[in-house]
Amino acid sequence: MDLESRVGELEQRLAALTEEAVKNEAILKSSQEREMKLLEAESLDTLLLLLTKGLEDSYRLEAVSLVICDPYNEVRNLLWNDDLRPDSVLGLRFVDAMNDLVNEAGAFTQPRLGPYKRGSHRHLFPQADRLGSVALMPLLRQQKLVGSLNFGSTDSKRFTQQHATDFLHHLATIASFCLENAVNRARLVRSGITDVLTGMHNRRYLQDRLRGELASAHRSQTPLACLILDADRFKRINDEYGHLAGDSVLREIARRVDTQIRANDVGARFGGEEFAVLLPGTSAEVAAKLGERIRETISRTPIELSDEQQVRVSVSVGVASVIPAPDVANLERVGDDLLAAADAALYKAKHDGRNCVRRGDCRPR
Ligand code: GH3
Ligand code: MG
Ligand code: MG
Repeated sequence: MDLESRVGELEQRLAALTEEAVKNEAILKSSQEREMKLLEAESLDTLLLLLTKGLEDSYRLEAVSLVICDPYNEVRNLLWNDDLRPDSVLGLRFVDAMNDLVNEAGAFTQPRLGPYKRGSHRHLFPQADRLGSVALMPLLRQQKLVGSLNFGSTDSKRFTQQHATDFLHHLATIASFCLENAVNRARLVRSGITDVLTGMHNRRYLQDRLRGELASAHRSQTPLACLILDADRFKRINDEYGHLAGDSVLREIARRVDTQIRANDVGARFGGEEFAVLLPGTSAEVAAKLGERIRETISRTPIELSDEQQVRVSVSVGVASVIPAPDVANLERVGDDLLAAADAALYKAKHDGRNCVRRGDCRPR
């Protein structure tokens, strides 16, 4: 071979290598970006969307699914708390045991790449059945299989056993880490400020928000209203239907309260069978109308119990509202007064025969 063609050949190889390097760099950069997004996901629901639809879009795949082993329904409950219906995320599946969906789950420690087989992969990709090849990645936590991330492509050569699996392995490690982290964070948030029975905020959260909302009512000289609701003759419900039935009635009351209030209102389980709602920018008159609507929503339709029994329940409601005086010395005291005024009004509602709304007086000072 003469020198000229030798140089030509080398130049061609160099060009090919450069092109390859540029391509690899671009791939590396986009997978780094993808991973950063996962690591930065702020909440469990954002992360789950990124791991399904997000990866499907960024890898241009026909189907991506995420299977999470959730035998105690914990992750699902955390999602409900986040206001996300677990079945509204396309590609997200929950199972009680990984064996339910993955063959030989015990030996599933490395990505599995190969042709799509309807028999064994159909349940992983219920949203697509014309796939050519798949990559199944185990999500491991302390060497225990806790889920799997699954890619499906119509291209039968996209995932084959000959492909390097390093980057899929890496992605799966990041995904497992992010998932565990997001679940832990959601648990923490929930245990601190959320009532476990109803999923509503708890009293501690309400007290915190009361402080903040009063400060803002003081600044803007607008009213802050408070409703306190107490289930009527609740002891009888427990006595007649049992404590568990009582619990589900409380959950349903909480749900009905939630359907009536706006996003920036603060609803909370105040204790036992008592609930409270803070309504920023609301006069006592308007708050009383809302109280009436909530009362009506709870008493109008009986609550279904699991054994096809129905139970009617009503609530008594106390309402108060305050505009903190511009020169108020102690906002904390105003908060106490507001709650006390709503509580006194609730007492009056009980005294007046229950299942009604009464307004109390809260004088600014
Ligand atoms: P009233 O109309 O005067 O409010 O009557 P009541 O029976 O609702 O009032 P009381 O305060 O005497 O009883 C409250 C009952 O609520 C007693 C308690 O067992 C029940 N309760 C409180 N918390 C829970 C709970 O978490 N689950 C269940 N099932 N019951 C609860
Ligand atoms: Mg009661
Ligand atoms: Mg009570």
